[in-house]
Amino acid sequence: VESTSERRRRIPKAADLLADRLRQRILAENLPAGTFLLSEPELVSQLGFSRATVRQALSLLEADGLVYAKRGPNGGIMVSRPDPLHLSRSLALQFTLSDATLEDLFVLRKMNEPRAAAIVAETASARSRDEILACATDECDLDGHVRFHGLIAEACDNVLLRTLLGALHEVVGWHSADEHLDARDLENTTRIHRTIATAIAEGRASVAERAMLQHLELFEEHLARQGRLKQPILPPARWADPEASAPRRESLGSNGQVPLEGPSGNNS
Ligand SMILES: [Zn+2]
Repeated sequence: VESTSERRRRIPKAADLLADRLRQRILAENLPAGTFLLSEPELVSQLGFSRATVRQALSLLEADGLVYAKRGPNGGIMVSRPDPLHLSRSLALQFTLSDATLEDLFVLRKMNEPRAAAIVAETASARSRDEILACATDECDLDGHVRFHGLIAEACDNVLLRTLLGALHEVVGWHSADEHLDARDLENTTRIHRTIATAIAEGRASVAERAMLQHLELFEEHLARQGRLKQPILPPARWADPEASAPRRESLGSNGQVPLEGPSGNNS
């Protein structure tokens, strides 16, 4: 299977050069989204590149999410901004399709989610705190438990952490159906989620941080007892499931975004 970087290596050098030049201009001049660049024919005539080269360069920039080709009479090549949701989604695919194990996933989660809970306790809006608390109080099923972590990711006032946690949240949602939680596990999860949510609501960052770490450690122990830590995050068979279009939990949240398609959450 050809990777994106291999595909890129095959692209004629002229297209790379032109793409680099346009990318530099967009970034250096900090061109706002919606700014029109030269049109395709203008790029051809003014810069002396062939039509094929211009097209390839623009498709490279489009893959970066930096330009968007607007069709129609008032169309043209417009500057855009990469969508963090798409980045989270590609990271999630990368994490899942690599050889990463559940143990690897928990290393990353333990490094990031406790800190995120602390940041949310320090900086989140009253509305986000309420949402997190309501989720921990009302939604005690598996979907609610996954959503709880998504709400914390969404409320985190650090765009790098938010993007990474968005990806982790996708991955967690995908593998959660395999977790075999019984009623007691769900009850324990509910209890610790409430502790975290209450600490966040009260602005107690270090309590939220410690409770989140403890929660993830307990969960990791749960997977260890099942002998699952060395297993892949998601069994490849789940990607091939013909029922993969089964209803999915809400994606990153309450912002009205269309849920991202993922592998089947129904492994029964
Ligand atoms: Zn949890």
